[in-house]
Amino acid sequence: MRAQPTASHFIDGEYVEDTTGAPIECVYAATGEIVARLHEATPALIDRALAAAARAQADWAALRPVERGRVLHKASQIIRARNQELSELETLDTGKPIQETLVADATSGADALEYFAGFAATVTGQTVPVGGGDFVYTIREALGVCVGIGAWNYPTQIACWKAAPALAFGNSMVFKPSEVTPLGALKLAEILMEAGAPAGLFNVVQGRGSVGAALVTDPRVAKVSLTGSVPTGRKVYAAAAQGIRHVTMELGGKSPLVIFDDASLEDAIGAAMLGNFYSTGQICSNGTRVFVQKGLKQRFLSRLKERTETILIGEPLDPETQMGPMVTADQLDKVMGYVEAGVAEGATLITGGKRLDRAGNYMQPTVFADVTDQMTIAREEIFGPVMVVLDFDTEDEVIARANDTEFGLAAGVFTSDLARALRVVAQLQAGTCWINTYNLTPVEAPFGGSKLSGVGRENGHAALEHYTQVKSVYVATGPVDAPY
Ligand code: NAD
Repeated sequence: MRAQPTASHFIDGEYVEDTTGAPIECVYAATGEIVARLHEATPALIDRALAAAARAQADWAALRPVERGRVLHKASQIIRARNQELSELETLDTGKPIQETLVADATSGADALEYFAGFAATVTGQTVPVGGGDFVYTIREALGVCVGIGAWNYPTQIACWKAAPALAFGNSMVFKPSEVTPLGALKLAEILMEAGAPAGLFNVVQGRGSVGAALVTDPRVAKVSLTGSVPTGRKVYAAAAQGIRHVTMELGGKSPLVIFDDASLEDAIGAAMLGNFYSTGQICSNGTRVFVQKGLKQRFLSRLKERTETILIGEPLDPETQMGPMVTADQLDKVMGYVEAGVAEGATLITGGKRLDRAGNYMQPTVFADVTDQMTIAREEIFGPVMVVLDFDTEDEVIARANDTEFGLAAGVFTSDLARALRVVAQLQAGTCWINTYNLTPVEAPFGGSKLSGVGRENGHAALEHYTQVKSVYVATGPVDAPY
């Protein structure tokens, strides 16, 4: 097997195993083959990871920022040099095609490390005049020990998007990957050490929700950053609130993609396909409610069907494969349940809708049309390759309907009228929007959700707010004017 991690956890600078923890099997989604056997972290290991992170943090924060940046930059270079091997591991971990993992996973993690490496040394405070020669200066300080908890769809990217800003600004981290995809984060830990990070700075412990819960409530923890579903977000947010901890919540979505009839048809279809079928539809920000203006509907659907039916489904390690299996058999069952609900509630199945008759968790890319706002498939996050197409007449109507959801992660608009695009985007309730494209998330741009989709932002300058706090120091230059 390719470059497997050598043990379940990475704590205080080394791989650590304790086989008394409950077993976790890492299953290759394309074949059902077990690619790694790991164990959940025991309470003793969780304690060891948090103690190591707490010990490492103060010295790391005291380094010159440029030195912290150098370590992260080196890590980004190692990741790029080892991209092939890391991408193969990511494919085994998730079932996503190598065609994708080569360009969207470790490389996106390297981008984050590189970006925050450069950012680290630019962080400064303010000097605030307060009269009489006195002044206040501010210091941006690290929060301390941060906990990162990941989802299974982008395991390496999520680990990097959390670790890079946390470490750049002087924090340490204990990261718990999803139990479904435990491998990628271990490689990040190994690479950070190789790049010169001190032992204990970035630790990885494996486990299910209970391990995450133990991390979130530990008194040593200053901040929790979760990527996951809304139900988990509610639990983690509430648990973090007990200790008044900082949180970032990157949660689910049911994002609208609005296509006006003056849009470039091929571009709009390409974006709708990318925004529903990339990573077998397992992307939080996917534009899963595709609103198509009535004048374009028939042409849109017939060309969409044609293009969707050319998608090459296959063995994820084959470079030709464009779509792989769902991450787990459970996820496939869940998505097929939504397909059945779509049919039962009267949506028109344009293409797909079936499991593939082969080993692995495969299904066809699926498109429903004539979907109405109240149907289950228009309201709930499906998290699979199921595109839901709804019709609309007017701009005002589509804005109201696009916003009629409890989620607020992302949104997209396709039109050749830029003024209209700007006007519509200004009214959409979403943390991240795209005009005439979809799902591009460069590290330079803040990313995150509104409404139930989350709080806080990852990436961009915005991340500074979420991994530091401001200390305000009043400097007096005259006598103390006490009345007694
Ligand atoms: P999930 O909510 O089931 O699990 C997420 C993580 O939380 C896992 O590591 C899990 O072990 C852990 N967890 C579960 N219960 C916990 C608890 N009580 N305390 C602490 N940790 C706990 O999500 P998933 O199925 O792994 O991922 C899919 C979801 O993630 C989708 O809803 C998707 O939209 C969302 N997601 C959001 C983003 C984003 O950036 N907004 C990105 C990727 C995925």
